[in-house]
Amino acid sequence: MSKDTDVILPGATLGVLGGGQLGRMFVHAAQAMGYFTAVLDQDATSPAGLVSHHHIRTGYEDPQGLAELARLCAAVTTEFENVPAGALNQLATSLPVSPAGSAVAIAQDRAAEKAHFVKCGVPCAPYAVIATPEQLAAVNDALLPGILKTARMGYDGKGQVRVKTRAELAAAWEQLGRVACVLEKMLPLAHECSVIVARGRNGDIVNLPVQRNLHREGILAVTEVYAGNLPAAQAEQALAAAKSVADGLDYVGVLCVEFFVLQDGKLVVNEIAPRPHNSGHYSQNACDVSQFELQVRCMTGLPLTQPRQHSPSIMLNLLGDLWFRQGGDTPATPAWDKVLQLPGCHLHLYGKADAKRGRKMGHLNITAATPEVVRATALKAAEILGIAPF
Ligand code: ATP
Ligand code: MG
Repeated sequence: MSKDTDVILPGATLGVLGGGQLGRMFVHAAQAMGYFTAVLDQDATSPAGLVSHHHIRTGYEDPQGLAELARLCAAVTTEFENVPAGALNQLATSLPVSPAGSAVAIAQDRAAEKAHFVKCGVPCAPYAVIATPEQLAAVNDALLPGILKTARMGYDGKGQVRVKTRAELAAAWEQLGRVACVLEKMLPLAHECSVIVARGRNGDIVNLPVQRNLHREGILAVTEVYAGNLPAAQAEQALAAAKSVADGLDYVGVLCVEFFVLQDGKLVVNEIAPRPHNSGHYSQNACDVSQFELQVRCMTGLPLTQPRQHSPSIMLNLLGDLWFRQGGDTPATPAWDKVLQLPGCHLHLYGKADAKRGRKMGHLNITAATPEVVRATALKAAEILGIAPF
């Protein structure tokens, strides 16, 4: 077994738990650097499985699947925060695993995550944990109106109910199946931002520039990254908070920290993702090191150098809705040829066969020499594709 201090050089095989689009882009980055790849995911048509050298088609907790992954790989990472932490811990008995199961376990659970923010001294939304009828009864009225979120397994706004009154809160908890939840106070948001940091085994930490994010219906729609996208003081504060969250976890790997910027300018942390993040996709075309290359460097012990953004950039998420613009149930391929006539448009599609409304099918990275041009181009691309202006 390689020791955690060994550098794993190209030619070795790197493994990833999860076969979604993040795994696919990790595989692309690893292969570009000369690594072989192995994906563990049940789905025979998973986006990452389709492009990997090896695809182990078992569940995350299947002992044979995990043993095969450990046999093939020199190191393993994850692309999905809901991989059971136990699977990561088991793999860690025979090879380097980053991020560690303990860090992923915190990111999997909104209650543990919020407790970690408090421990790091990073402000988050006022909240209460609701796992029992007693905790429900004891909720402070000051948390209403609020959002009740399942503590585990939420994504893209799923597992969340907005509540105004105690009666609505009680009904929402029933609706969510009385599972452990977190009630968060509804905050007056001015906008949202996120930061991606990468932390090595030796504690070195580098970052991508702070991203400004627009969500629609709980799903990320647009990320804008260029000088002036946020006031400098907010960006510095977000970066400092992200670094302290990563240091506090003794984190190894790529970590995304999402923030709310309130109408009074205050910054509060929303949540963390223990992996590359949708809001970091622009780095593929706008930075000299992408978030996926950072993931490869972290897990192999290669040096981390500070990425440099060379172009102002906007990312547009391509949801399945764009395939249904004509109405009806028959999907139609969007006019990629028209979009790609615009300068600086980089199309990324995830190889998903069925377009469904709300499903992330791909993204479009737009780069230009100036923020003005990147915005003008992105708005044209959005118009061609049927994405609402921003
Ligand atoms: P993702 O998969 O994007 O991480 P998620 O399902 O984990 O999403 P959250 O990030 O908790 O969901 O919330 C989704 C969106 O809902 C946020 O980006 C924000 O726009 C809005 N939202 C969540 N919590 C609050 C809050 N306390 N106050 C105001 N708006 C909120
Ligand atoms: Mg979120």
